[in-house]
Amino acid sequence: MKNHHVNGTRDHHEGKQIPFSLTARLIEDIFQRHKEKLGGVTDLSLQFNSGMQEIDAFIQQNTGVVCNKCHKKCCVNRHACYTCEDLVYIYALGLKTQEYGGRDESQPCHFLSGGGCRLERAIRPSGCNWYFCDALYARMETAPGSAYADFDDSLQELCSLWMEITDEFLAQFNAIAAHEMHMADLGCSSYRRARDPE
Ligand code: SF4
Ligand code: SF4
Repeated sequence: MKNHHVNGTRDHHEGKQIPFSLTARLIEDIFQRHKEKLGGVTDLSLQFNSGMQEIDAFIQQNTGVVCNKCHKKCCVNRHACYTCEDLVYIYALGLKTQEYGGRDESQPCHFLSGGGCRLERAIRPSGCNWYFCDALYARMETAPGSAYADFDDSLQELCSLWMEITDEFLAQFNAIAAHEMHMADLGCSSYRRARDPE
């Protein structure tokens, strides 16, 4: 299963004048005020987090070989921004996001260090977690035994889980927003589009 970068949540996204920081604050606020109603989103997010940690070692083994030799590194700022779906997942776990604002999009990612990405895989922007270049795929496919097939199965399960997180959040959000009209616009019109195949 191959995935590509999705459009990220930048300072102003989707042509709307809703800043990233406001969207993030609104979503964080919903989780703080409606913890019980959003318990299902948190449970699914915990499962996703755990699944991501399980495939981390296999990915690391391969990026450790392929990425070190890469001359066209994909880790630039424009790929390192959170989508609305990422914000839901991160706040469901009670974690914090990093502000994106004011960085040169073509420059190396501000999370990149000499040892690779400074963010734990489970909380990287989804555009990073779902992206595997051809060279990386080629390397992973040579893994002994069923390692690659197992990884691919896990990735597909995680992909389904990711969609469930959004579906559950939207169901709960719509119910909550019906009573709190000021919450109706999170600036997240990209929810569905962001996960559509290119
Ligand atoms: S994932 Fe691919 S493009 Fe990105 S740094 Fe590794 S080898 Fe390069
Ligand atoms: S957040 Fe990490 S994986 Fe994503 S582009 Fe930046 S350094 Fe690379």
